[in-house]
Amino acid sequence: MQEDRLGFEYPVVDESACVSCGLCLKTCPVAGSPDLAYPLKAYAARSIDDGDYLTSSSGGAASVLSRHMIKSGGVVYGCASEGTDVRHVRVDRLEGLPGLKGSKYVQSRLSGVFEPLKQDLEDGRDVLFIGTPCQVMAIRRYAGKLSDKLYLADLICHGVPSGKMLKEHVASVSGGRPVGKLSFRNGNQFELALASGEEVIYRADSSRDMYYNAFMRGLSYRSGCYSCPFARPERGSDITIGDFWGIDTRSHPLPFDCNSGLSVMLPVTDKGKRLVEMISCDMKIEGRSVEEAVNGNSQLRCPTRNSFRGRILRQLYAHGLSFGTAARISLLDKKLRDIYRKIIGRR
Ligand SMILES: Cc1cc2nc3c(=O)[nH]c(=O)nc-3n(C[C@H](O)[C@H](O)[C@H](O)COP(=O)(O)OP(=O)(O)OC[C@H]3O[C@@H](n4cnc5c(N)ncnc54)[C@H](O)[C@@H]3O)c2cc1C
Repeated sequence: MQEDRLGFEYPVVDESACVSCGLCLKTCPVAGSPDLAYPLKAYAARSIDDGDYLTSSSGGAASVLSRHMIKSGGVVYGCASEGTDVRHVRVDRLEGLPGLKGSKYVQSRLSGVFEPLKQDLEDGRDVLFIGTPCQVMAIRRYAGKLSDKLYLADLICHGVPSGKMLKEHVASVSGGRPVGKLSFRNGNQFELALASGEEVIYRADSSRDMYYNAFMRGLSYRSGCYSCPFARPERGSDITIGDFWGIDTRSHPLPFDCNSGLSVMLPVTDKGKRLVEMISCDMKIEGRSVEEAVNGNSQLRCPTRNSFRGRILRQLYAHGLSFGTAARISLLDKKLRDIYRKIIGRR
């Protein structure tokens, strides 16, 4: 894998060692047409455990699924962060699960999980893999015939910035202080918070923080995210989870509160249905229509648009400007428009 100037890794074939076996194409998550299926059902859900609920990004579906998998003797592969180092890890004990909680809005590195995951499947253990849709497809194709005991949960995803962008941004806003913990969400609130030990050294909401602002506007993603083949209603996983944006609680109220976030769960296969059955005792859950979930979440319909501002940001960053400066320049027109509206609005 080789990193480009934006910090994204791409596979490069060593032509002198290639024997043209075609295995790289067979396992590539985006080569050929992926085998996708329309969800069987939609559920709105939140964890019944308030502690669990309040520390999760949405309604805690990922967390409850992971707990059940481990309690029934299985293994979970999910995304953890150590400071700004964000990667997938293997967890086989309940004590390891808090590290997986929370969305980390950056590309998570998968290196290091493929072989242990294969070993777990060969040992006959149930394995739950949670990740972005492209990561799920990568694992699915890698596992191939071993996938009987593999449970795949993909997140609804609007795209990922690179680890290099995050590291550089964090170093600049933390004034070089060591960052042990970072978090991107506080329930329904989108904010970047950085902690050194127990002390919070930086906290800014998504409109004030340049990394977050660029992320929310879809300016800083890997190029493939703008033509993502998985940003559609049909899915490549056993179950899709995300936020239940746009749920119509006015006409069809939920029988439970969800002020700090609400999960959507879309089982796609029989395995996905079994996962929902397995966790329903630990979740407040209500059946909704798949259409309602798809209509409320643009990432279930199409990929993020590759905007002019985004192209400016990525080009300036690739040409050596700092992330913050590149982001500010790409949003100059918006800033000018805001100033203009303020002045005109005052008269
Ligand atoms: C980059 C990204 C973009 C997203 N975009 C959308 C969106 O547009 N619409 C939407 O409805 N939902 C989106 N989500 C999903 C949403 O933010 C929550 O992660 C999801 O609803 C799970 O929340 P939870 O409460 O069930 O889980 P939690 O208990 O909070 O657990 C979070 C789970 O997400 C996994 N995870 C965290 N960060 C990453 C990462 N960087 N890469 C892979 N896996 C990760 C962890 O392994 C864990 O299992 C996105 C998530 C990510 C990471």
